[in-house]
Amino acid sequence: MTRAPRTSVRAKAPGKVNVFLRVGSLMDDGYHDVAIAYQALSLSEEVRVSHADRLSVEVSGTVELSRVPLDGTNIAIQAARLLAARTGYTGGARIEIEKHVPVTGGMGGGSADAAATLLALDALWGTELPRDEMLELARKLGADVPFAFTGGTAIGTGRGDELSPALASGTFHWVLALAEFGLSTPEVYAELDRHRSRHAPGVLHVDDAPTVDADVLQALRAGDPRMLAEVLHNDLQAAALHLSPSLAQTLELGEENGALAGIISGSGPTVAFLAADRDSALELQVALSAAQLRVVRATGPVHGARIVSD
Ligand code: ATP
Repeated sequence: MTRAPRTSVRAKAPGKVNVFLRVGSLMDDGYHDVAIAYQALSLSEEVRVSHADRLSVEVSGTVELSRVPLDGTNIAIQAARLLAARTGYTGGARIEIEKHVPVTGGMGGGSADAAATLLALDALWGTELPRDEMLELARKLGADVPFAFTGGTAIGTGRGDELSPALASGTFHWVLALAEFGLSTPEVYAELDRHRSRHAPGVLHVDDAPTVDADVLQALRAGDPRMLAEVLHNDLQAAALHLSPSLAQTLELGEENGALAGIISGSGPTVAFLAADRDSALELQVALSAAQLRVVRATGPVHGARIVSD
């Protein structure tokens, strides 16, 4: 039986928190190798695509949207162009993004948009690209895009895009404090490089090929929030705090109000607090909201990009 052509397709993809992020030394090409333990969160982006003569993008959602571009620099348009070029598809599409992941928040919202767009357009256009080729396109769009595709819990090495799944059990409860401002990922890395060059080599040991610590993998495998709280780590945290000192108060406030631990998510400025369980997460959300912070709750891990319906 042949399937009737679809007129529209919807797909979802998750935001993420890096429960562990180690940054290797600066390479000759200006990049760093990293070792990341990713966890996909229930805070997700939704993308709806429908047929059109040319490519266009519209954005709505529950987060501050002013920093999202609506031209060809939007990562969803870049994803569409890449898929069209790879498959020889010559038509366009109307892309509608519903954003729930904070923009420039260090939670991979743009990456989730790119993954959801690739998946939705592949179904709409009937291009049926094999999964490994789809992951190859994802990698070209950005280091975090392959993880938005696969979801769950994974270890990323290289630029963060060489993924291997990690064993995980249980559900972790997170409370996310969203900042009013964004932090640019390249600026945070540049601050880290300045910090490292201020310290004499030998005092600060930096790996060329960083790895994720074994106790992080063990905590994820055990599904134990207390164990994980002990080993949360982000090499970018000091740089993000240097650029945005007010985040230190947010971290303190969360830890005073029952969080097991807090961490800057990726390059920030979102602060992610790990709670012992759902009730503690709710209490923490109330306390942080009372302090006038914008707060959302999320759980992880969740699955990666998927089609939700036509
Ligand atoms: P990551 O955690 O992957 O480093 P992030 O969560 O800090 O990224 P994003 O919100 O994914 O940051 O986007 C970063 C930049 O990308 C913004 O400056 C924005 O202008 C640009 N951008 C392009 N397309 C999008 C999109 N669809 N949504 C959000 N930002 C986009």
